[in-house]
Amino acid sequence: MKSALFASVRQRLRATVESVVARTPVADIHTHLYDPAFTDLLLWGIDELLVYHYLIAETFRRLELPFDRFWALGRREQADLVWQALFVENSPISEACRGVLTTLHRLGLDVKKRDLAAVRQWFARQRVADHVDRCFELAGASSVCMTNSPFDDLERPLWERGFRRDERFTAALRIDPLLLDWPATARRLTGWGWRVGRTLNARTLGEVRRFLADWTRRLDARFLMVSLPPDFAFPARTDTARLIEDAVLPHCREFNLPFALMPGVKRAVNPSLRLAGDGVGLSNLAALQNLCAAFPHNKFAATVLARENQHELCVLARKFRNLHLFGCWWFLNTPSLAGETTAMRLELLGLSVTPQHSDARVLDQLIYKWTHFREVLARVLVEKYTDLAATGWNPTRTEIERDVQNLLGGEFDRFCRMTV
Ligand SMILES: [Zn+2]
Repeated sequence: MKSALFASVRQRLRATVESVVARTPVADIHTHLYDPAFTDLLLWGIDELLVYHYLIAETFRRLELPFDRFWALGRREQADLVWQALFVENSPISEACRGVLTTLHRLGLDVKKRDLAAVRQWFARQRVADHVDRCFELAGASSVCMTNSPFDDLERPLWERGFRRDERFTAALRIDPLLLDWPATARRLTGWGWRVGRTLNARTLGEVRRFLADWTRRLDARFLMVSLPPDFAFPARTDTARLIEDAVLPHCREFNLPFALMPGVKRAVNPSLRLAGDGVGLSNLAALQNLCAAFPHNKFAATVLARENQHELCVLARKFRNLHLFGCWWFLNTPSLAGETTAMRLELLGLSVTPQHSDARVLDQLIYKWTHFREVLARVLVEKYTDLAATGWNPTRTEIERDVQNLLGGEFDRFCRMTV
């Protein structure tokens, strides 16, 4: 009798949680999308979906074609090969393949016909402005944060010229070249008129701070970010460590901005795969611990690429309120790994995390990334609320709505605003 009663509690909770999670808008804190003002930099449509680097990596496992021959093809021909290898000759089971189908399905296209030509025709009829609205709506996204690099020759000119912003696209200042290749970056900054030298002396560091302030204002950046190799160390006698300590962190304190670190990427494990050729390595999180401890008045956001680092990262976040965890990216963005990571984070940190960002590179991917993650999140939350209900603590719908809003952007917002 008791267990039957409890099954009905669980069922009620499931219905509430699923409906709240499905309806709550998400503020997506990290993507590689661009404001439509950047025109061609905003990728969308079926061919872009098919040549996503996740799918290229999977396709090469089935191709005997030399790498160079593939890269010499046009985007459409590459997309044809991906479609043939991953969707026609095999069932599209992988998460990245399934994502394409979820996207098409939710856009109202009939995937069972397996008719790529018809899908292409449908996309050819869409106008980008309407398509942006539709993708945001189907993803339930209220805003997406871009990844903006002043070192990118394609996007820099538009920032310098200025343009009318679409408020749904917020900005983050990405500074990988500054931190990871100072000699080359010093030459570029000099060419742009900044008075920096190869040696990181007081004048150069001051000028780097002026550069960061200039771009933070220009972008209206919400945070600064860098992706790092697994062996990133801090403190260390390196340009990277010096620039972080004496330019980036003082800058972040002055503007009260988080500094987001994404360690764990092994660049170009297979260079023939180009963008798809990066791998994963176990990160030394002592570097992050040292940063959080040595700079309590700085805020750090972090996501790691290695599954094996996730537990240690959770424990670290328990120790430092100036550390915010976010996202399950790239090789972790699968239903099973995002599920286990989200459950572990909630069990160790409660609701003070941002469990996911989309990392979308193609506009349409917002649809599947959020459709799939909402399923994962609902599943985990049903478990957690059911555990509470077993004690007699019945979460109300209002409480569930509050919690889900926080998980889908509210907590990150609070972290950005807070002063430590
Ligand atoms: Zn990313």
